[in-house]
Amino acid sequence: MLQDKDRIFRNLYGFEAPDLAAAKKRGVWDGTKAIIARGHEAIIDEVKQSGLRGRGGAGFPTGVKWGFMPKNEDVPHYLVVNADESEPGTCKDRDILRFDPHVLIEGALVASFAMRAHTAFIYVRGEFIRERQALLRAVDEARAVRLIGPNNIHGWDFDIIVHHGAGAYICGEETAMLESLEGKKGQPRMKPPFPAACGVYGCPTTVNNVESIAVTPTILRRGADWFASFGRPGNTGTKIFSISGHVNKPCNVEESMGISLRELIEKHAGGVRGGWDNLLAVIPGGASTPLIPKAVCDGAIMDFDGLRDAGSSFGTAAVMVMDASADVVKTIARLAHFYHHESCGQCTPCREGTGWMMRLLDRLAVGDARVEEIDILQQLTEQVEGHTICALGDAAAWPIQGLIRHFRPELERRIAARQAEAAE
Ligand code: SF4
Repeated sequence: MLQDKDRIFRNLYGFEAPDLAAAKKRGVWDGTKAIIARGHEAIIDEVKQSGLRGRGGAGFPTGVKWGFMPKNEDVPHYLVVNADESEPGTCKDRDILRFDPHVLIEGALVASFAMRAHTAFIYVRGEFIRERQALLRAVDEARAVRLIGPNNIHGWDFDIIVHHGAGAYICGEETAMLESLEGKKGQPRMKPPFPAACGVYGCPTTVNNVESIAVTPTILRRGADWFASFGRPGNTGTKIFSISGHVNKPCNVEESMGISLRELIEKHAGGVRGGWDNLLAVIPGGASTPLIPKAVCDGAIMDFDGLRDAGSSFGTAAVMVMDASADVVKTIARLAHFYHHESCGQCTPCREGTGWMMRLLDRLAVGDARVEEIDILQQLTEQVEGHTICALGDAAAWPIQGLIRHFRPELERRIAARQAEAAE
């Protein structure tokens, strides 16, 4: 279990004040100038060596992503911090914004310096009103004492623009976020060009998740080796897990990567309601990741490779627990409604497919379908997956594929029960 001395987020529960004085006591803004003095490339190299992988879901190595930014400064470079946390079940960035905003602001300065950016946009989810207010207060505090802003004490002109979204899930997709920042409809762009070549306002841009940016100053203070000492090769560091659903104590907790799913739930969330044997299934990485049934949960390791081996995905590490009382088909049908509602409508497979999947699942939830329609639903998910501009199509398909893979007998049981009822 991760020890308190190794926790990066020391105010995750808001027991202390989020303001600058309290943040400094927790070690934030400690030696930032010395970090900057190391130079652009040294910072990027250290982040690469730490093995940090993006905490927003895709898991791309953060240092490598920073290295894609051009070295010359002919045109402005930008950092965009993705604080549009909208994935059902995920609530980790929310608590960083609320309770520890200075870790993010310091991280934004360091990351922007590494990538030669003088401006960072922080794109805050539309529903995060209080979080945006807390962040703005912290940005004002940092600016007032010249930690950021023009002529700041770090010697790198840098400012932050906090942008408040309007509540569309798809704006969390990096290119949709750039469109939205530019004042356009938040619809994903085709890639290439990738944002590092042509991002916001046509300039080189890197989009990073809140947690990815917030952990970097501590990595640079304590060293890449310290961070890499947690977890397994390729899956290093600490991570905030959001645990919700049928557990006794739902919570956010920072833990070492590579912890077992069972230990995570039992040590931090008070265990599954009714005990581990009462577990039905877990969605392990946010709503878009395929569920895993109890038999797989028994040996599941919570990191990128561990959950890939378990037939799912680490995603945002938002663990949603279903005990034996849960209606698993209805749960996945509910998620299908969500993705249908949030589809931006640009691509036909996603726009139409999410609706078909949703309607078919609604019928399957009550057994009002034919057995062959389970296969039709599977084919439908495969026609959407990988055939769209952005990953929302995949996100809509994967939970359904997980349901069919692990709970096909339950789907068939409902159809048979409904047919038996009709025959009476
Ligand atoms: Fe829009 Fe869906 Fe296409 Fe993404 S996959 S661009 S959300 S229609």
